[in-house]
Amino acid sequence: MSIQYGPDYVRAIAPYQSGKPIAEVAREFGLDEASIVKLASNENPLGIPESAKQAMLAAASDIARYPDANGFDLKAALSAKYDVPQDWITLGNGSNDILELAAHAFVQPGQAVVYAQYSFAVYPLATQAVGGRAIEVAAINYGHDLVAMAAAITADTKLVFIANPNNPTGTFVPAAEIEAFLKKVPQQVVVVLDEAYNEFLAPELQYESTAWVRQYPNLLVSRTFSKAYGLAGLRVGFGIAQPAITDLLNRIRQPFNVNSLAQAAAIAVLNDTEFLNKSAQLNADGYLQLTAAFDALDLEYVPSCGNFVLVRVGHDDGAGARVNLALLKQGVIVRPVASYGLPQWLRISIGLPQENAAFIAALQKALS
Ligand SMILES: *Cc1c(COP(=O)(O)O)cnc(C)c1O
Repeated sequence: MSIQYGPDYVRAIAPYQSGKPIAEVAREFGLDEASIVKLASNENPLGIPESAKQAMLAAASDIARYPDANGFDLKAALSAKYDVPQDWITLGNGSNDILELAAHAFVQPGQAVVYAQYSFAVYPLATQAVGGRAIEVAAINYGHDLVAMAAAITADTKLVFIANPNNPTGTFVPAAEIEAFLKKVPQQVVVVLDEAYNEFLAPELQYESTAWVRQYPNLLVSRTFSKAYGLAGLRVGFGIAQPAITDLLNRIRQPFNVNSLAQAAAIAVLNDTEFLNKSAQLNADGYLQLTAAFDALDLEYVPSCGNFVLVRVGHDDGAGARVNLALLKQGVIVRPVASYGLPQWLRISIGLPQENAAFIAALQKALS
């Protein structure tokens, strides 16, 4: 009998499935890399912002040195932008890091973590990695049912994850519902409000989550530079919470969890409103382009507030995998979501107009 290493709860983890890299699809299907369209990881189709590129080039000459472990300049920039003290900020190796740090800091084996059905895959992963007990609350219209989530909190619940907008469904919970939820949650339960797609929200949906951080000492807001800011490959995100929470996250993070190029680039893009506006506009246009095609093809989709759309490509549980394969053969990479319990659906990241058009043409073929 072979030795089994590690705790049962670690061996039970199903690894995160990322979008297929372009090079891998080119190899597998004998395609030219340049002809492949990747709409699978909610990346910014505009590519790296010029402001970030310049900042990285300037920072590159110092790369023999360790990064600033405290990220002083980036925290100063974030502090100014969000009007919070610097000791309310935790920098992360992507906001994924913040989510994991929260699980490590607040949850012991056997204690409960509450999150919604069809919410971000990292919540169950982070929960399982620390031996936490998952309480998955049934979704309502593919989104968070915050009334049911508040009711699901048990005496041993330590953490709640909420993605707003949610990935992979794109659903959005309005500010009033979040606030009503925060009022109900016991103070000893930490609430992570994951706002990875915040910058894509239409102005009328925007709310000031940092105002809630001031009011609720148990709230941790997480943000990322990976999506609207176009820096997914650099891995940089951050959390905002009062010092009691922030202090713990900073104790357990790796000392140099955000590298120097990432720090420099993040500072540069933080106030690059031109790039952000361009991204948001491109996204809004692409959303109309994709959903018009889904309407024309009579495909159901979930109205999305993110930079992606969840679309139902069939009514049998093989549909997602089948259509995904047909798209891959045509050089279009999207995201199957069977692992989320959505085998009839695919998640399509919104791309450049010509990328969206290539996907639509391939989808038409795949369905016929
Ligand atoms: C993409 C995403 C993140 C994190 O991305 P990072 O690249 O780690 O910052 C966090 N939450 C949700 C809901 C996401 O979709």
